[in-house]
Amino acid sequence: MKYFKLILEHGDCSLSEIEVFSQIYSQAGTDIFDISPDIKALKATKRGIKKAGLNPCDFKYCISFGTNSLNSMPKATINQSKCKRCYKCISRCSQNAIFIDKNGYPKVSEDKCIGCKTCKKSCIDFLDKEVDIKQVAKDFEGEKLDIVEFHISGYNKKTIIQKWEQLLENFSCQKSIAVERNKFGDEKLLKLVKKLDKMNPQKTIIEAYDTSPNPCDTPAGTLQAIAHAQIYEKLGLPVFISGETNSFTKDFADKFDVKYSRISMNTYARKIIEKALSASDYELAVRIAKKLVEKIKT
Ligand code: SF4
Ligand code: SF4
Repeated sequence: MKYFKLILEHGDCSLSEIEVFSQIYSQAGTDIFDISPDIKALKATKRGIKKAGLNPCDFKYCISFGTNSLNSMPKATINQSKCKRCYKCISRCSQNAIFIDKNGYPKVSEDKCIGCKTCKKSCIDFLDKEVDIKQVAKDFEGEKLDIVEFHISGYNKKTIIQKWEQLLENFSCQKSIAVERNKFGDEKLLKLVKKLDKMNPQKTIIEAYDTSPNPCDTPAGTLQAIAHAQIYEKLGLPVFISGETNSFTKDFADKFDVKYSRISMNTYARKIIEKALSASDYELAVRIAKKLVEKIKT
């Protein structure tokens, strides 16, 4: 069986966007929702699924941790010592994430800010937030959690091992590893994946993850992820094709006979329904999403 996983990072998306995308993609047949390790993101996803008239228990949930941070875009924070209260940042923000607080200073709503940096100026900081793995495990206690993903974007072996150990210790569900291939040579990559899998008592899922500097819906936009998946074939572990996947991913994976169990979609899946959503054509958005999900799962 092939799965469709939708990536909704609370950092790329606001909570209200997560809710809308979950509503549409749950109706379209998505199997797994991949969100930030943020309980608010999980609740927004479930709200969306319920709005679609579906049962949140019928879906799988994955949360992703990064090597260095929350694995999402750092959010804006107003530096009050530099703020001259010109309020220009408010009009620059397309997400309406900046409001005026009771003291007359602009303030950023963490739930609405997507870290796009359009408001970037010396008076606004973008601070990376370190995640407290233990606290996240506590926040998610009692929630249905199926996969914990470890997103590795840098090579500090000690940190990688330490964080992996913490994830194994704090979460009992299945684990996946997404290594950014461009940060490693293929040999180093395989060595690292083998080591981390050996530490995991369960079978680790591998995310063949790649980012493109110019994400686009062309064969070139997905070939990196497919080539990445091929590297793992000999390990005999389940592979998700991830990162900059698009409408060509499945066709090319089949063409090159790449073995995979899931395709994860990020920017592309959200982009293709944006036009329908801006025209408030919900039914059209569901139809577009359904076409993509069906294509991936057949
Ligand atoms: S944070 Fe900067 S842009 Fe925003 S009101 Fe203050 S001075 Fe103006
Ligand atoms: S413009 Fe600034 S406050 Fe608004 S979403 Fe982008 S980063 Fe956040």
